[in-house]
This record gives sequence, C-alpha cells and structure tokens, in this order.
Amino acid sequence: MNSSAPHLILAGGGLASCLIALRVAQAHPDTRISIVESGPEICGNHTWSFHEDDLSADQHEFISPLIQHQWPAQEVRFPSYTRQLKAGYFSITSDALREFVEARNIELQTNTEVTDLGPAHAVLSDGRTLEGSAVIDGRGQARADGLVLGFQKFLGREVTTREPHGIRHPVIMDATVSQADGYRFIYLLPFDAHTLLIEDTRYSDGADLDDSQLSAAIDDYAVEHHWTIENTLREERGILPILMAGRFDQFWPRNAGIARAGLRAALFHPTTGYSLPQAMTLADAIASHWPMDGAALATFTRNHAQAFWNDTGFFRLLNRMLFRCGVPEKRYTVMERFYKLSDSLIENFYASDLTLLNKARLVTGKPPVPFFEGLSMIGEEKFLRAEYAE
Ligand SMILES: Cc1cc2nc3c(=O)[nH]c(=O)nc-3n(C[C@H](O)[C@H](O)[C@H](O)COP(=O)(O)OP(=O)(O)OC[C@H]3O[C@@H](n4cnc5c(N)ncnc54)[C@H](O)[C@@H]3O)c2cc1C
Repeated sequence: MNSSAPHLILAGGGLASCLIALRVAQAHPDTRISIVESGPEICGNHTWSFHEDDLSADQHEFISPLIQHQWPAQEVRFPSYTRQLKAGYFSITSDALREFVEARNIELQTNTEVTDLGPAHAVLSDGRTLEGSAVIDGRGQARADGLVLGFQKFLGREVTTREPHGIRHPVIMDATVSQADGYRFIYLLPFDAHTLLIEDTRYSDGADLDDSQLSAAIDDYAVEHHWTIENTLREERGILPILMAGRFDQFWPRNAGIARAGLRAALFHPTTGYSLPQAMTLADAIASHWPMDGAALATFTRNHAQAFWNDTGFFRLLNRMLFRCGVPEKRYTVMERFYKLSDSLIENFYASDLTLLNKARLVTGKPPVPFFEGLSMIGEEKFLRAEYAE
C-alpha cells in the first residue's frame, strides 16, 4: 500500500466499524484501514439478528457469508392469540464477523483504548497518535445529551435442553408471561433441536438490570415449557436505548467535527434498539463517497444520521405512547394490537420504512392507549419542554 493512499481510522471495533471497514475495503482496496479496539478482540460476543426486509438485495448478498442461522418465519404470542409472521429472520455472530474482517487487509489494534479523537487522528492509550485522512468514532453508546430515553433491557442464555425443545421458528415476543418492570416478554431463537437462546426482555422506564432475577425467570420459563436445561453455553445482556424524544443538535452539535457511526450516531431503530440495518446502510453510503477528509466525513455522517432522525420521528411518538400512556403493566396491549396488523405493515415497521398509510393505520382504530393521554404526546418539542421542566 503506498504511503499517499487514503487512511481511514475507526475508533472502536464493533458492528458499525467492522461493516464500514469491510465495505470500504471491498470498494477501495487501495485504502489503508485501521481499527482500534479497547477489548481483547474486535466484534465482542453477540448474535445480531435482522428481519428479511431490513436489508436490500445487494446488502443481503454482501452479508450472506456471515449468516450463521436463518429461519423462514417468526412467531409472536400474546394472551389472546399466537401468530406466525411470514418474513424470514437471520442472525450473524461476532465470530463470523471477526473472521471476515481478519481475512481482509485491515490493521487491527486490540487492547488499545482510544483516549482522544480529532477529525483525522486518534490518540491511543499506549501514548501513540495515529494520523490518517479521516477518523470515525464507532465506540458504541454515547452520552444521551438531549435525548429522552426508555430502555429495552434483557438477559439471554443460550442453553442446551435434554429433550428437543420443539421451537421451530424464532419467537420474537412471547408476551404470555407475567408482566413486570414495564412490558415483559420472552424472546426465543432456536439454533438446533436442542439449543435455544432464551431471553427475558423488559421495556422499562429505568436502566437497572438484575441479572440473577432474570436468570431465575429464564429457569422458571424453561420449567413451564417442560425443558430441562443441561448447559448454559453463553450469556448476553443488553440495556438498549429506546428513543422517546430528543434534540438532535444537542446530541450531536453541528460543530463537533468528528464523524460517527453506529449507536454513537443514534443510528438504531428507535423502538427495537436494533442497529444492524442502519450500520449496513451507513457503511454502504461511506463506501460509495470515500475518500473524504475528516471534516467532510464528519459532515457526511452527521447529515446521514440527521436524515434518519428526521425520518423516524413517528417511531419516537409511538414510543412516547408506549412508555408514557396508561399503566406500565398494560403496555403489552399496545403490542398485542400492533401484531394484529398486516404482514407488510409489520415488515415496514421493522425496516423503519413506514408509508403514510401505515402511519395512519397505526394511530387509527380502537385507541391502543387512553385517547387524551395519547394526544398530549404528539408534539415532540412540547413533550421535551414538559420533560425538562420536571
Ligand atoms: C446483547 C446485545 C444483543 C443485541 N442484539 C441485536 C440484534 O440482534 N440485532 C441488532 O440489529 N442489534 C442488536 N443489538 C443492538 C446493537 O446493534 C448492538 O449494540 C451493536 O453492537 C451496536 O453497534 P456499534 O458498532 O454502535 O457498537 P458496538 O458493537 O458496541 O461497538 C463499540 C466498540 O467500541 C469499543 N470501544 C468502546 N470504547 C472504546 C475506546 N475508548 N477505545 C477503543 N474502543 C472502544 C467497544 O469495546 C466495542 O467493541 C444488540 C445489543 C446487545 C448489547
């Protein structure tokens, strides 16, 4: 690689950075790419899932070598009904993503913290400064300046069961369980006849997560389903932000001057907290405009994130209604009503791509929340002023 080649520095080696690295490496083999990760290895220890319609055909093709599990349908369960959704569901794993990145000509520096960033340089914990053409901050969840959040909290255990567990498709919500700490449901991913991820999830007002309590709840759920857990192979936990409202300029000031990606850029689905589709889209956008200098890349990523923010205001409204109307124990009724809607509307919802008609359908009909409380949630700025006044 010649020394005048463009050099992209990625701070943090998580999902967003790795997808950018792969897409830029593919489209611009002459670019030098460095990833600096504070942990012992890049990509962490996750299973990242997505819905079939979340990605374009080209993105599906790109990501297909990383897919470790896929299912042709999904299921939801509520006290009053069970429904199978026709859309496929896919999972990639950290191991697969890491292997893919390691096989490319990408420089990896692990066990190295980024302590300071400029538009085109990164200061490292070992005292060195990496100089490049441009830097992207992909260090995961940022401070929530200017944002009003709820939380999606979960503890998941990938277990083996003595007898076949009998789950054939992902159960993305089993809300037949007792309600606690807001909206509670169990998420199930069957990897094979005896291996299952069981995740206890809560949509809550607070961010505290009691691991031992959720782990015991998973044991109880297994007993109720007559599964004998033989081993827990892996555990994952998450406290994902659910966006109710915010001021984008405060979260990411115009003059900040450093490019961002992933959760750092608020590029996640406001209601589910999933970020894989948004990370893929940003990676594509950067690859097709690369090379840029640090200042241009900062403006480019900020504009991209601002456009996503503007497009997803309706989801923040739905979240305000979910979190702030009615009593927390009844939140499941909002979801119970939602999953009675058409397959195409549900697919558009996950893909953050609702049509005007979809939006109208979501807020008309029998109100999912008390009508007058719902009305007071409509204006985001009004809601913010009331929040900050408290
Ligand atoms: C357990 C769990 C399961 C999830 N499942 C899904 C899912 O199924 N589908 C989906 O779309 N989303 C899922 N998400 C949500 C979201 O997609 C992930 O959190 C995703 O990893 C976010 O990507 P990111 O690149 O922004 O941050 P991360 O992947 O968290 O990457 C940030 C990286 O930066 C590193 N870092 C932090 N500080 C520094 C520093 N100072 N210097 C150097 N490195 C640093 C971290 O160690 C980390 O490796 C899940 C989240 C969690 C926690």
